[in-house]
Amino acid sequence: MSTNNPFLSARSQMQTAYVFLTGRYDAQFPKMMNPERVIEVNIPVKMDSGEIKNFVGYRSQHNGARGPYKGGIRYHQDVTVDEVKALSTWMSIKCATLDLPLGGGKGGIIVNPKELSERELEQLSRGWVQRLYKYLGPLDDVPAPDVNTNGQIMSWMVDEYSRLLGHWTPGTFTGKPLSIGGSLGRDTATAQGGLYVLEAYLKSSNESLKGKKVVIQWAWNAGLNMIELIAKTGAILIGTSDSHGAIYDEAGLDIAHIVELKKNKQALTEYTWGTQITNPELLELECDILIPAALENQITSENVKNIKAKLILELANGPITPDADVVLFSKWIAVIPDILANAGGVTVSYFEQVQNNANYYWSREEVQQKLKLKMETALAGVLKSATEHKVMLRTGAYVVAMERILEAMKMRGE
Ligand code: GLU
Repeated sequence: MSTNNPFLSARSQMQTAYVFLTGRYDAQFPKMMNPERVIEVNIPVKMDSGEIKNFVGYRSQHNGARGPYKGGIRYHQDVTVDEVKALSTWMSIKCATLDLPLGGGKGGIIVNPKELSERELEQLSRGWVQRLYKYLGPLDDVPAPDVNTNGQIMSWMVDEYSRLLGHWTPGTFTGKPLSIGGSLGRDTATAQGGLYVLEAYLKSSNESLKGKKVVIQWAWNAGLNMIELIAKTGAILIGTSDSHGAIYDEAGLDIAHIVELKKNKQALTEYTWGTQITNPELLELECDILIPAALENQITSENVKNIKAKLILELANGPITPDADVVLFSKWIAVIPDILANAGGVTVSYFEQVQNNANYYWSREEVQQKLKLKMETALAGVLKSATEHKVMLRTGAYVVAMERILEAMKMRGE
């Protein structure tokens, strides 16, 4: 189907996979097509100017059959209710693909956080919690960082939540700094998980990352962590981007320089070697591995015919639309889908929550080891399902995940 509405994309992905489960969960499946609860809130913030400004926020709780709702909160000027609903659906599927005992949720606030002072941002974050705390908690719904949110925002939120309840409840939010109950390895978990899956996928066809030409869209957060991680694998980064544009060098970009620029909050336009190109041109570069790490709808029916990568690892959520997916599959371009490729983040969030609830903390090595095992086991399950049903990896993953969710719904009498 041709759509850039992410919620319609998520529904179409579920429809495609349900073909392989038809007849078994016909009573439960229609309920999965919509979130169980979507809450819209209005958050007043006293701006530094003295003016009171209202911000609209959301929390979508898609499915809780397998455990508490789990998923991030995004701050972005383009947030819509349908986007949040889609992202919460993808979280349900992601957690079930990894076999985490969690459901799916997602939140958002319509705001460009770059336009707010630190004090305004704190008030907005605390305001979101004041409006929603009755629906959150370690056994109910556990938010985490997403686009434009971070450990500082989680700290304000967990503090506000704990004040409202009158006791310290670190397990209500994940992605926290280490000083207040965060997990070692959570900061780099999305990229690290993606790398474990990528290496295991290549190994299944006797290949490795050594010498592979890689393009990473969006050198920030997970994308920037991935850039740093692949530097150690022998892969060659030939292109990357930020909000100002993209850079390209067939011979390989200077990773240390890029990391330094981005950590100093400088634009990639200040990278003086290579060629400056546009973001659309970046996606169309000839390369071995393309890693979209920004937002939804990057590869669509418009540009899919120009995609020349051999393999795509979706570090962002929803970067490929369902109609583009079909074209890529017909061109034999493999896609390791978001619900597996970027699941390292929520997997270590789950580990963080387990550590908070037990009040006992693990070493970085222990976290990495458990993450690797989780990612590789999930990949093996997805590959098996895709081979068995002769479908793309995304649909293979959906079949695995939806069977787990629908079975839980059925057993619970839903
Ligand atoms: N926002 C991340 C995601 O989309 C992490 C969610 C979490 O840790 O709960 O997977």
